Amino acid sequence: MFDFLSQKFSSIFSGLNGKKSLDEKTVDVALEQVKEALLSADVPYDLVQTFAQQIKDEVIGQKVSSSLKPSEQLMKVVNDRMVDFLGGEKTIFSVQIPSVVMVMGLQGSGKTTTIGKLAHYIAKEAKKRGKERRILAASVDYYRPAAIDQLEILAKQAQIAFFRAQSNNPIAAAKEIHDHWRANNYEILLLDTAGRLHVDNVMLEELRTLDINLRPKHKFLVLDAMTGQESLAVAKAFDQGVGFQGAILTKIDSDTRGGAAFSFRYALKKPIVFMGSGEKLDDLELFYPERAASRMLGMGDIKSLIEKAEQKIKAVDQQAVYRSFQDGKMNLQDFAQQMDMVNKLGSLSSIMKYMPGMGNISISSDHMEQGQQEMKRFRAIISSMTQKERVYPRILSDSRKGRIAKGAGVVVAEVNKLLSRFEHMQQYAKLIKKSGGLGRFFK
Ligand code: GDP
Repeated sequence: MFDFLSQKFSSIFSGLNGKKSLDEKTVDVALEQVKEALLSADVPYDLVQTFAQQIKDEVIGQKVSSSLKPSEQLMKVVNDRMVDFLGGEKTIFSVQIPSVVMVMGLQGSGKTTTIGKLAHYIAKEAKKRGKERRILAASVDYYRPAAIDQLEILAKQAQIAFFRAQSNNPIAAAKEIHDHWRANNYEILLLDTAGRLHVDNVMLEELRTLDINLRPKHKFLVLDAMTGQESLAVAKAFDQGVGFQGAILTKIDSDTRGGAAFSFRYALKKPIVFMGSGEKLDDLELFYPERAASRMLGMGDIKSLIEKAEQKIKAVDQQAVYRSFQDGKMNLQDFAQQMDMVNKLGSLSSIMKYMPGMGNISISSDHMEQGQQEMKRFRAIISSMTQKERVYPRILSDSRKGRIAKGAGVVVAEVNKLLSRFEHMQQYAKLIKKSGGLGRFFK
């Protein structure tokens, strides 16, 4: 997810390693790369300029904190700006009861699939609070053949009610559906509407009439993240033609470059509410600007990792790792503990995208195997250290390193590799502390 941008940004930031300060020239060069990255992700030119200018103003204007490295300073500013661009505060969606939820979008954007996912999401959230929602799904998509059959199948899978109108005129059908919804005391009506391959007036007119007749409390526009800048033009047309509350960005699991996700909020002044990350019912998640920014910047997504870990790892282990991030202090003991957590979580590939600094690495299965082996070696190296060495790795002299390497059955270069990997991780921990600790991930 957002691999394209995170690879670009990670390489921009690592290009600043070794720089002594963030002088104007260094900032300009880095910002040129930032612009290039965003343009190639299909972010509109004017938006790229605005974003870069904001970063420049902030970097040049800010009091430089000597405790942050230049790459960290820039990363922090870029991260803060990006969170703002993506919407700042997280968008909280809570469905009104009773309500009609109208879902719009171009044909193929993922509308119908998204209705199934929304039903599943709303039912799941209600269940968490011990409630059961009476949800009805129905469609007035008479334009795409089989769209209504598809929704019926999805409704069955999501275990919600489905209603098929007799009429095949969208407006008359909507009335039938609405009457059925009312008469049967359903709480939520998820209404699928017809799209077209391109924005067209007949479609917008139809949606406007549905809007006037049904007065939906929630209107979502479904956008295919793969369509990049084009999706902004589509969104503007829907906004002017019908209006909507927020977007649901689908197919972010696919090869999207992230331009639409990056630009949407700023261009439309409306939130992305959900992201669709696959074809299954479960593949819908709320859009959190902070998490998305972290992923785009290759800083990993600690909150999601912790959520994923919750079911698999003892709370006490998690707390130790959480604390080390929170304090900005991290020793090799924590690092070893993290590796153990990783092992418990399953395959490296499935969780690497969540880890700070590792999200940008895309690797073959051979390399992945090597990674697993490397982790084993790192674990063995840390086991060969004394407690003091684990807590204060800077005392590791050449002779200590030689002893440790021998004990772990590896060469000294492996010990150095572990230490440099560890240092990288420590920088992230420090950066998290500087930017207010992990609390910001938990708002
Ligand atoms: P509609 O014409 O807008 O109703 O589009 P559909 O719901 O039929 O979706 C079009 C295609 O996109 C289908 O093959 C879906 O399985 C697929 N799709 C929808 N959402 C996602 C998503 O989040 N990720 C991926 N990979 N595919 C999706």
